[in-house]
Amino acid sequence: MSVSEQQLQRYAKLIVQVGVNVQSGQEVFLSCQIENAPLGRAIVAEAYAAGASNVHVDWLDDAVTRLRYERAADDVFKSFPAWETAKRNAFVEKEACFISVVSSNPDLLKGIDPTRIGNNQKSAGAGLAEFRRATQADQVSWSVVAAPSQAWAAKVFPDVPVDEAVDRLWQAIFDAVRLQAEDPVEAWGRHNDALHAKVKLLNGKRFKQLRYRAPGTDLTIGLNEKHVWVGASSERPNGLPFLANLPTEEVFTVPQKDAVDGYVSSTKPLSYGGNLIDGFKITFEKGRIVRVEARQGQEILEQLVQVDEGARYLGEVALVPHESPISRSNILFYHTLFDENASNHLAIGSGYAFNIEGGKTMSREELGAHGVNESVTHVDFMIGSADMDIDGIAQDGSVVPIFRQGNWAV
Ligand code: ZN
Ligand code: ZN
Repeated sequence: MSVSEQQLQRYAKLIVQVGVNVQSGQEVFLSCQIENAPLGRAIVAEAYAAGASNVHVDWLDDAVTRLRYERAADDVFKSFPAWETAKRNAFVEKEACFISVVSSNPDLLKGIDPTRIGNNQKSAGAGLAEFRRATQADQVSWSVVAAPSQAWAAKVFPDVPVDEAVDRLWQAIFDAVRLQAEDPVEAWGRHNDALHAKVKLLNGKRFKQLRYRAPGTDLTIGLNEKHVWVGASSERPNGLPFLANLPTEEVFTVPQKDAVDGYVSSTKPLSYGGNLIDGFKITFEKGRIVRVEARQGQEILEQLVQVDEGARYLGEVALVPHESPISRSNILFYHTLFDENASNHLAIGSGYAFNIEGGKTMSREELGAHGVNESVTHVDFMIGSADMDIDGIAQDGSVVPIFRQGNWAV
């Protein structure tokens, strides 16, 4: 690996300071692939440098995960260990920072029985329900960041030797997280302000509907009158900001669960549960997904929408200009963290409490009454292109162009 120690340290510092914003005396929960141990260690060092009282690391290994799916007993996938739930919840209670270094391997579970994958998604989703609620209500600071694996790099850059592919993927990740800027922390401050300006503008419009038109797409998404657009940094109850995703280019809100009608087509492959789903079209009636058709990964897509009843509805609608820096790089990352930030997208599954006015303190029932979907899953899929037009329908029925030919029109 030719990425320098100094670069890893810069990245680790950005993750600790801008990502989760570690405070003196706080605990940190880090999960990281052993293949990325050098970055994991750099994050641990930076977290202690920022005053962390303790850093807990869950080391993960794709090879072990694959073996488990191949060889473990069927029942293993149907229940999530209680001790694992307790461990995670204990860190939530302590208001720890959660850092997750993800290293996609789009073909990791190729050929594995989709029932096992579906069962695992279901049981892990239920086992981590409390953790998910805490993150989706901004009660703890959390950040998902990426690092290359050989398998991932080879998928993104198939035409070069794997070492070179890994280097290129590091550089692409560093570009996407603005690490090449002289002062990345300051660069993120400016980017944050730009996204917050769009959020303010959209929140001022109070649209009641969004209308999407593109080849293969004709979709109307209703918005609750209390919907809130958000983007870039989030805030914990104590007012401290953090970035849940590094990079992030999106502004997003929550669709009214039962007010989505029409059809939408994917524009990038979706890496889900260790498999690729590609060339798919989803049809909605009164918010419910009534049909899915995929050129690749049909069975996996069907598993996804059958995870629970909430997996039949949307939980997020996000706007990203076709000219975003990640999109301009023209790299298909096969990883949602990057591909969703290069494209308008929607998410199947649960909606975020903070996307409704006062939602952070609402019960799940109250959120439901405001049209927020609930599910154990939340999976973003990409629908943006240079051909996409989006209109906002105002309360008085007037039509405001939001996107024209893939880019902002407001
Ligand atoms: Zn999103
Ligand atoms: Zn999402």
